[in-house]
Amino acid sequence: MNCEIIKDLIPLYIDRCCSEESANEVEKHLKECKNCKSIFDMMNSENLKEKNESFEIKKLSKINERKASVLQSVLLFISFIVMAVGVTFEAKTPLGTENGFWAFTLIIPATGFLLSLANWFFIRIYKNKKIFSVCSFIVNAAITFFFFICGIFYYNVPSLYFISETGFSGFDMLLKTIQFLGCGIVTAAVFCTVSKIFSLRYAEMLGKD
Ligand SMILES: [Zn+2]
Repeated sequence: MNCEIIKDLIPLYIDRCCSEESANEVEKHLKECKNCKSIFDMMNSENLKEKNESFEIKKLSKINERKASVLQSVLLFISFIVMAVGVTFEAKTPLGTENGFWAFTLIIPATGFLLSLANWFFIRIYKNKKIFSVCSFIVNAAITFFFFICGIFYYNVPSLYFISETGFSGFDMLLKTIQFLGCGIVTAAVFCTVSKIFSLRYAEMLGKD
């Protein structure tokens, strides 16, 4: 067989995409022809290098995927702990005093964060890591805000300051409510920031642009 045909067959031979007959012909020719043998050696080593590189990349992305799920689990665990601490403190608060304080300060912000982690499972939908990070922040803030509103009604927060004193204006009530929620607002802001920073890290680990 002539060298031109062999040169055409070499890539197929390396990829094992040619018939057994052609493979035999190529092998036979390579034993006899130094020129084609050197071409074969060059192409073969390049092919091996490529395969090795893609294997390395796959290995690296596997490691990063594992890191990402560890990160998610750690965050999940932390928010659980914060919730548990909040529930414990809230349960110890005697009825009729500042009920709801620990709910607003720890339980609601941690719950908002925990639920917002569900959004992380849909990371594939997002175009890039920045959009994902901002959306994680917004989802966290929105859920927390919603629960804050529910909590204000549930615990009837304005009445805490209404019972003993009279002559409160609506504005005073709003101020007092915000004052009561103060620590909770700080905790919620911390969780939202954590959500923004770590969702970005999470996206990077999963190879988002
Ligand atoms: Zn040849």
